[in-house]
Amino acid sequence: MAKDAGNNSVYRLLPSVQHYDWGVAGPESFVYKLSPRQTDSSLPHAELWFGAHSKASSLVESSEGVFTPLSELLTSEPMLYLGSDVVDRFSGRLPFLFKILSVAKPLSVQLHPNKEMAVMLNAQNPLHYPDSNHKPEMSVALTEVELLFGFRTLSDILGLIGRFVEFSEFVSSAIVEDEGKEKARIFSWLMHLGRSEVSRLCLSIAEVLRSGTVPLQACDNWFLKAFELYPGGDVGLFSFFFLNYFRVPKGEALFIGPNIPHAYLSGEMVECMASSDNVVRLGLTSKYCDVDTMLEVIDYSAQIPKLLVPAEGESGERFYQLPCDDFRLSFIDSVAEQEMQLDSRMGILFSETASGTLRCGTQSLEYSPGTAFFVVDQAGEIRLSRHVGKMFRIELP
Ligand SMILES: [Zn+2]
Repeated sequence: MAKDAGNNSVYRLLPSVQHYDWGVAGPESFVYKLSPRQTDSSLPHAELWFGAHSKASSLVESSEGVFTPLSELLTSEPMLYLGSDVVDRFSGRLPFLFKILSVAKPLSVQLHPNKEMAVMLNAQNPLHYPDSNHKPEMSVALTEVELLFGFRTLSDILGLIGRFVEFSEFVSSAIVEDEGKEKARIFSWLMHLGRSEVSRLCLSIAEVLRSGTVPLQACDNWFLKAFELYPGGDVGLFSFFFLNYFRVPKGEALFIGPNIPHAYLSGEMVECMASSDNVVRLGLTSKYCDVDTMLEVIDYSAQIPKLLVPAEGESGERFYQLPCDDFRLSFIDSVAEQEMQLDSRMGILFSETASGTLRCGTQSLEYSPGTAFFVVDQAGEIRLSRHVGKMFRIELP
């Protein structure tokens, strides 16, 4: 049993830091600025993880100042910390994960399979799919965020690839009434090209774009930028012409459901998801890519991300309505200092810009930007005093 089980209702949470190469350089990144731990500023700072995922559990601080992985604390007394509902529904594991992302370079083009597929992939290929859980995810832009999300319409795609001679046969023979089938036909042809063909085609596209003969669009500029990162070519580069390019304004949020291809290109954000690392990758990464699985499950329908409008709850807390049972996200945001009361529910609180004092039972904890707390099941009333700024909360719906 954890040392102070039963005493604390709220634990200070120390996230794990991921230094993936696509992260924003040290001191400029939100990940660096919001990390409560000292990190090596010379490294790229890609992600902060707040949660109990087996790959990188956060640490909790006991009242004696001892740090324990949150996963260990929860395993020691799941009923006490998580409550019977979570123990029953999620086998005693924290069902969600909260992250901060700082993206300087395009992430892999990826999708997340649904629950049934996740279970199957895990059974068939546990080395590359160690997680059998699905991964619905949502993000809130902390700066403007650029991303690829879902397929374009067929006419959009034909317009873009029609500029390159290598696609002329596809463009002239395309049956426009058969949107999904046509997209699948062209896309899977591309995905099955050999390495040298991919390399040649990327080079040829880049030459056309650099020649000044076509007006460049955002997707073209991104193709050229990403081509510099993958000078030998990469099948993921073709995604710029097949997937929709979007800019999500600061403060806006979106949800990514199963089988929707996507790739974050730049920006800083909050990301919430089911506690899972289940990713099928297609390209723009040195990690394992699985084109066959990708093509089997990918959703070819044209997608526009719907920006989420949070609904106002009690005490000024605003909730994002999500089509998933694994988590929900809410926030409070106040411009002037005030006293607030939050109903206590098991979950994680994270201060983006907020400061104040949190009181729960006999505990009194100061917070400032970057502070995170794990709130145990049935913690009792939570009072925030002199609260100002924005604080997120992730919990079960
Ligand atoms: Zn994703």
